[in-house]
Amino acid sequence: MSALHIHNTLTRKKEPFVPRAPGKASLYVCGPTVYDYFHIGNARTFTVFDLVVRWLGTLGYEVKYVRNITDIDDKIMDRARENGEPIEALTERMVQAFEVDCARLNLLKPDVEPRATRYIGPMLEMIETLETKGLAYRGANGDVYYSVRSFPEYGKLSRRNLDELRAGDRVAVDAAKRDPLDFALWKAAKPGEPRWSSVFGDGRPGWHIECSAMSCRELGAPIDIHGGGWDLQFPHHENEIAQSEGALGTRFVNYWMHAAFLNMDHEKMSKSLGNFFTARDVLDRLDPVQGGEQLRFFFVRGHYRNEVNYTQESLADAGNTLGSFYTTLREVAPGEIAAIDWSDPYAARFRDAMNDDFDTPIAFSVLHDLRGEVNRTRSTALAGLLKALGGTIGLLQQDPERFLQGGIELDVRALIDERNAAKKARNFARADEIRKHLESKEILLEDKPDGITEWRKK
Ligand code: AMP
Ligand code: ZN
Repeated sequence: MSALHIHNTLTRKKEPFVPRAPGKASLYVCGPTVYDYFHIGNARTFTVFDLVVRWLGTLGYEVKYVRNITDIDDKIMDRARENGEPIEALTERMVQAFEVDCARLNLLKPDVEPRATRYIGPMLEMIETLETKGLAYRGANGDVYYSVRSFPEYGKLSRRNLDELRAGDRVAVDAAKRDPLDFALWKAAKPGEPRWSSVFGDGRPGWHIECSAMSCRELGAPIDIHGGGWDLQFPHHENEIAQSEGALGTRFVNYWMHAAFLNMDHEKMSKSLGNFFTARDVLDRLDPVQGGEQLRFFFVRGHYRNEVNYTQESLADAGNTLGSFYTTLREVAPGEIAAIDWSDPYAARFRDAMNDDFDTPIAFSVLHDLRGEVNRTRSTALAGLLKALGGTIGLLQQDPERFLQGGIELDVRALIDERNAAKKARNFARADEIRKHLESKEILLEDKPDGITEWRKK
């Protein structure tokens, strides 16, 4: 029987997964900065780690899964100012929206979702320890910096050479820092900015320290698995290692996992480049019953360490493939399965693929083979196995009939009823909103003289 192997970014090798405590796995994933809706690139990374959590559970581990929420940073402050709303109102709204969108994507809720602003105490404790150990210093501008040159292993995750980094033109020279690569642990308060009092004076934390403090507080070190998108290797995770290992004097993380980008036109999808679609926009344009699962399948049918390019066609293709699985499950009703028999050849191949650093392309090819066999043999037991294997990674759990029928018609009817009720109550704004919402999905409404509303596709 194969054992789980994970590609560790730190060693650039696949290593057997040996958790720090037998039977238990701890996982920390860098979560969203809540200043806006998240885009489908972010969603891919969160889905990849959702898969990791589910698979660890399938293997019998008791998993503790922590994903943080960054609720204080420059982007948040800027956006709140632009909107003319208090920071807390913006972040609260975005946290709510994040939860709704995650649920639409069928993402498991982490066991803990620490918010940065509620962990200022542990962050300050860590910064004070770093200062005591000579790894942090106070700059002339009131900020507190991490002294990169005092941590000899700096660069070990991203394999960067400090001298090359210093020579790079992206490193801004800053008079307050001893070394251009030093980074802020604590930022002195500026007028009008949120602030917390501390021995370093009033201020707010830097971004990197929050993940070190929250992950160590919630999981203890060493954490089994720490994950995030590819871009977080440097500087974010490099800095997390420097802070945590500098303060604790022990290893911070045993396995580092990084998910490759979702691209658009072969360029990283990102807010700053402006080439992004929010998860909610994409979901709104998909069928309400099928869309969440379609997007999940699109995200994970390629290997998580390979980039995926987003196009309408490839997303539609993922939907069609998923549809073919559901068609089989509609034709051959899946038998109830109490527990997967891992000695079954299909199950064993599927498990071997997933255990080989979550090799989903191979795992899905096994599901395709199994589907072919279900179609040939009409075996309800094998159909049950197909459904159960899909279930280990959050797929194929819907009622096939309902999935294949889709939700458009049901949804439209419910919305039309709601619109008519709104009109009756003279809530014309809501009625209009519903009409526009349907129009955005290419559905046109026609109010007939007899009071009946009909609809058609544009
Ligand atoms: P952010 O809110 O930008 O800090 O990103 C949240 C998570 O999404 C991080 O783990 C990022 O590495 C990840 N991420 C950002 N852009 C992409 C992308 N285009 N594809 C995949 N993951 C991404
Ligand atoms: Zn982080």
